[in-house]
Amino acid sequence: MATHRTKMLIIGSGPAGFSAAIYGARAMMEPIVVQGLQPGGQLTITTDVENYPGFADVIQGPWLMEQMQKQAEHVGTRMMWDTIVDVDLANGSPFRAVGDSGDEYIADVIVIATGAQAKWLGVPGEQELGGKGVSACATCDGFFYRGKKVVVIGGGNTAVEEALYLTNHSDDVTLIHRRDELRAEKILQERLLNHPKISVIWNKTVESFDAGATGALGHLALRDTVSGEASTLEVGGAFVAIGHAPATELFKGKLELDASGYLVVEPGTPKTAIPGVFAAGDVMDHTYRQAVTAAGTGCMAALDAERFLATLEAREHEAAE
Ligand code: FAD
Ligand code: NAP
Repeated sequence: MATHRTKMLIIGSGPAGFSAAIYGARAMMEPIVVQGLQPGGQLTITTDVENYPGFADVIQGPWLMEQMQKQAEHVGTRMMWDTIVDVDLANGSPFRAVGDSGDEYIADVIVIATGAQAKWLGVPGEQELGGKGVSACATCDGFFYRGKKVVVIGGGNTAVEEALYLTNHSDDVTLIHRRDELRAEKILQERLLNHPKISVIWNKTVESFDAGATGALGHLALRDTVSGEASTLEVGGAFVAIGHAPATELFKGKLELDASGYLVVEPGTPKTAIPGVFAAGDVMDHTYRQAVTAAGTGCMAALDAERFLATLEAREHEAAE
């Protein structure tokens, strides 16, 4: 068990956390990034990224995050492979956080960049058949279902990208959506609807994931959202892609959360109600949720952190005189 003292503690290692770190290190705040269970964040579970500015060619999500980490380290950020399990914000700066390693972090400012985690449908069989046919990450697990009939559940960008990706492994990919209209960007919709290996089942929800003779996923029980009719669909693999929920469990009762669990910040800023505690990226943004917006708010958090520290130091200086 060790105690790490820093001016700036960043919780999370996605685009928001690394961008805050790059700016924070260049402002001599000697940041520590605690990486959490998903080093590099959500982009590490995708393949092609073609909307992050600065790259004329399509780049890979994991590669982009590797570059961000290297850039943050290059300017002086310290990386910790730990997960924060407790924070004490009530007593003001300096704040205290504890990692699951048992290590303690004492920081003058905290940037919360814990992002979001995959949502599950919460229906029977989903958790029981996890790893046995049910997954929330096609890019991680798609390979295991090669040659099988696979389905993706959802209608947003993630679901469409997962379906497109799965055509690398399967000639029979079905997207199941609860409405008759997709939420995904038009360019992705076009690719999906014109793809010869993909079909779409509209207006259906999954009521359960059921095991087949081998104990692995065998079929889905579906319900039509218009007619109410029940049906079944035999499948080899199912990928749940219905969005992500903000990772804010740690901050319940300590910071204000909105009705969907996102951290509440002063509009147009990364400032939470506690001076010196900032939030950046998907954890405080239920509207845009893009790598570039996460990076942007990470930068804003670092700039505001620097101003907060300058004020704090000026006050301490005055008090000492
Ligand atoms: P995240 O990337 O979610 O990172 C959160 C970080 O916090 C992780 O490192 C995690 O380990 C850490 N963490 C969480 N809890 C703790 C804790 N208690 N202690 C320490 N660390 C913790 N956006 C695009 O712009 N273009 C795309 O092409 C694109 N493709 C996507 C594909 C998929 C499959 C998904 C899921 C998302 C995609 N997005 C894309 C969205 C983009 O990934 C997110 O908007 C972005 O990653 C959010 O960044 P973030 O830094 O806020 O959080
Ligand atoms: P999302 O945009 O929130 O879409 C979630 C989808 O799942 C919606 O179609 C929703 O249906 C459906 N859904 C939600 N709950 C459901 C339930 N209980 N049962 C059945 N269906 C359910 O989530 P996302 O696709 O993960 O995207 C999240 C963010 O990341 C977005 O801002 C997105 O733009 C971004 N992202 C960007 C890219 C990219 O730029 N290439 C790629 C991936 C993600 P309804 O439509 O009926 O609500």
